[in-house]
Amino acid sequence: MVAGKGSPLIGILGGGQLGQMLALAGIPLGLRFRVFDPSPDCCARLCSEHVCAPYEDIESLKRFADGLDLLTYEFENVPTSALDALSSVVDIHPNRRALETSQDRLLEKRFFSGLGIEVAPYFQVDALSDLEQGLNEFEGRGILKTRRFGYDGKGQVRLNREVDTASAWVEFGEKPSVLEAFVPFEREVSMIGARSQSGEIATYPLIENVHRGGILRRSTVPANASDELELQARHILTMAMEALEYRGLLTIEFFVVGEKLVVNEMAPRVHNSGHLTMEAFATSQFEQHLRAVCNYPLGSTRLVRPAVMLNAIGSIPEIQGIASFPEVAYHHYGKENRPGRKVGHVTVLGDTGEEVERHVQEILKKFPELG
Ligand code: AMP
Repeated sequence: MVAGKGSPLIGILGGGQLGQMLALAGIPLGLRFRVFDPSPDCCARLCSEHVCAPYEDIESLKRFADGLDLLTYEFENVPTSALDALSSVVDIHPNRRALETSQDRLLEKRFFSGLGIEVAPYFQVDALSDLEQGLNEFEGRGILKTRRFGYDGKGQVRLNREVDTASAWVEFGEKPSVLEAFVPFEREVSMIGARSQSGEIATYPLIENVHRGGILRRSTVPANASDELELQARHILTMAMEALEYRGLLTIEFFVVGEKLVVNEMAPRVHNSGHLTMEAFATSQFEQHLRAVCNYPLGSTRLVRPAVMLNAIGSIPEIQGIASFPEVAYHHYGKENRPGRKVGHVTVLGDTGEEVERHVQEILKKFPELG
C-alpha cells in the first residue's frame, strides 16, 4: 500500500472510542497507529502512540505527521486548518472534499440535492428574518440546526408556534444555520459502505436505528426494510462515494417515509450505528475502513449473526452484570461517566432476530438505562 519500512504507520486525527476501535482492528492487519487528540486520557492512547495537543497547534500537528504513511480521522469536526497543515506532508483519506461537505449541513444538502437525492426540506438561515420566513414556509414548525460543529443532538433546537422565535434565535447564538422541516418518518436507518481507490465498493445491509434526544440509543440488524429500500440506499451511497471520488468508509443516515428514503446526513468515517459489525458481520466497519484507505482488497460484508447494539449513555453497567447473559459483547470505552456522553455499548447476538430481541428484553429488565 504505502512506502516505508516495517509496519505501515497510520495517523488518526481524534483519539476517542472510534480511534481506539480502528487501532484495535488494524493491529492484526500489521498496522501501527498514532493518534492526535487534545485530551491526555483519550481512549485510543491505550493502543497507539498519542500526540496530545490542541488542533490549532500547527507545530505539534507537523510532529504528529512526521513518518506517517497515511492519515485518516475519526470525527468530522477536524478543523480544516489542521488538514491544511498536514496535506502537503501526508496523504489524507477520506479526502478533503468529503470532509468539507460533511462539516457543513448546507453544503451537504446541496451535494445530495445536486445528485437528485432527496433530503429533508430546508431553509438557509443567516438572520432572524430568514428564520421567520422559513418557519412560515414550514407551517410554524421545524428543527434549527447549526451548519457546523453539531453532533449527538447538540447544536439543534426544535421550534414551533409556542416558542418565541426571536429569543430562540438569540439563545442559539445567531449562528449560520439551516431550518429543517419535520420529516414524518416511520423509521430511521443507516447504510455503511466502503470504496477503495481502484473503485471497488462494498456496502453493508441497512441498519435500523432508534434515537432519543438526538442521540443514537439502539441499532438493529437486519433492519425492518424491504429489498427496494436496500436497493435505494445502496444506489444513493454508491452515487455519493463515486461523486466524491471517495476512499474509505462512508455512512449515510436516512429517514424512511413509506417506501422512500430521505437523506438525513452523512459521516465520512466509521459510525456508531456500525459498531455491531464487529460481531455481526464477516468484516467489521473498522477493518473495512482501514482496508479501503490502505488500498487493500475490501472484506466481505456478509451478515453472520443478527444483532442489536445498545449504547451506554452517561454510565455503563459493570461487566459482571452483563457477562452472565448469553452472546453479549461488552465494550467499555474507559471514559469518565458524564450525562449524555457515550461511554460504552453492548452488542447482543442470536440465531434469529426474535432470539436477539428476547435477550435484549431480559437485559433491559435488569439494566433499563441501556434502553
Ligand atoms: P441529526 O443530528 O441531524 O442526525 O439529528 C438527530 C436526530 O434528530 C435524528 O436522528 C432524528 O431522530 C431527529 N431529527 C433530526 N432532523 C429531523 C427532521 N428534519 N425531522 C424529524 N426528525 C429529525
